Amino acid sequence: MQRVLTVGIVSYPIRGDFERRKIIAAIAVANLPPILIYAFLMGGYVTRLTAGATKGCGPQHSTGKQTTMAEVSCRQVVKIYDGGVQAVKGIDLEIADREFVVLVGPSGCGKSTTLRMIAGLEEISAGEIWIGGDIVNDVPPRDRDIAMVFQNYALYPHMSVFDNMAFGLKLRKFPRDEIKRRVDEAARILDIVPLLDRKPRALSGGQRQRVAMGRAIVRNPKVFLFDEPLSNLDAKLRVQMRTEIKKVHQTVRTTTVYVTHDQVEAMTLADRVVVMNGGVIEQVGSPQELYHSPATRFVAGFIGSPAMNFLPVRVEDGTGGGLSVRVSEQISLAVPPSRTDRYGKYKGQQMILGVRPEHLFEYHENGRAGWERVDLPVDVVEPMGMETMVHFFIGHEPVCARVDPATHAEPGEMLPLTADMNQMHLMESDTGRVV
Ligand code: ADP
Repeated sequence: MQRVLTVGIVSYPIRGDFERRKIIAAIAVANLPPILIYAFLMGGYVTRLTAGATKGCGPQHSTGKQTTMAEVSCRQVVKIYDGGVQAVKGIDLEIADREFVVLVGPSGCGKSTTLRMIAGLEEISAGEIWIGGDIVNDVPPRDRDIAMVFQNYALYPHMSVFDNMAFGLKLRKFPRDEIKRRVDEAARILDIVPLLDRKPRALSGGQRQRVAMGRAIVRNPKVFLFDEPLSNLDAKLRVQMRTEIKKVHQTVRTTTVYVTHDQVEAMTLADRVVVMNGGVIEQVGSPQELYHSPATRFVAGFIGSPAMNFLPVRVEDGTGGGLSVRVSEQISLAVPPSRTDRYGKYKGQQMILGVRPEHLFEYHENGRAGWERVDLPVDVVEPMGMETMVHFFIGHEPVCARVDPATHAEPGEMLPLTADMNQMHLMESDTGRVV
């Protein structure tokens, strides 16, 4: 007898065994086989457990039945535009049912093209796209069972919020009571029930964005596709709507592919982030994986804000049979013994050292193993409230440290710093591969 454990959208890892026991106990008492248990977790604690029928929608979601799997896969997908621009260069990507995947990368890297190919709005030049177990290369967009939310949400100005949300269903000849049920449910999820009779001009930017999402939700599609949906909003609203989108996905749990150039948006929203660069996928991983174990210099530099510091170094013999990296004539940093084997074969070679600003902080007398002292002359001090960024140069290379806001750092003065070498990254100079 198979039982499926689905733990909702886990934004935090389960800590310890206590929560897991709770979940297992819940499975034991729910003696209807096979059953889905949705555990809602907040800060590592189970806030709610709900048992549902096999392969249903999320527990709070009743806008229609979602009985099919909705994985999305791209297999060796290529896009060459007329004129010869190769926008996407043979990507492979497997997106699981219910997963929230964010495509992120600099402008022009091929994210929108990839999304539009999944939607069917752009023909693919080679490869295969699969949705829910079917190859959809030749399936027109309206038959792909997807719903898309764009940055330009294009609501119909003469229609009320209700009618805007109902429009697609009316076109598809849904019965009136089913339309009302779906719109009301979506409005409840999005917290826009009081706005249903208003016209779009009487809504704020964030409210319009919600209506645009509502239009997608009522369709109850296999897949949501978001193309930079927040880029027209001001900074504060973006952050607010980001949380809203995450909440909606925790409730509706539809497979989602989301495009943004903003790495913070990517990190905060995604189950898995796909970092694209120049038409190829650099790395796919959870936000934590990308942050802690970037595969390339590009990913290391793209994920994290302020960006990781990169310094050309030479790997040398250190003390006691260990290794060190020489940053400049005056600065040599010991490599933690746990990394000696990994980096040994690069002895004598020019490499790139990567250290995040948060792993460069003010020196403390009682440091830990792997904490290396380095004294640098302060260039610029940037207080930001909860933290202060201090900028330096080593030779011509800029370096940023994230220090305590109580710092006494003054431009022109030396500041003793600690580099936490336990968090170091080492990259090949030519390929940018993290070793
Ligand atoms: P992103 O969404 O990452 O900013 P796009 O997918 O929009 O990137 O574009 C990828 C590349 O394809 C860019 O070089 C862009 O100029 C090019 N491109 C996009 N759309 C077209 C088009 N319709 N015709 C020709 N080239 C295009």
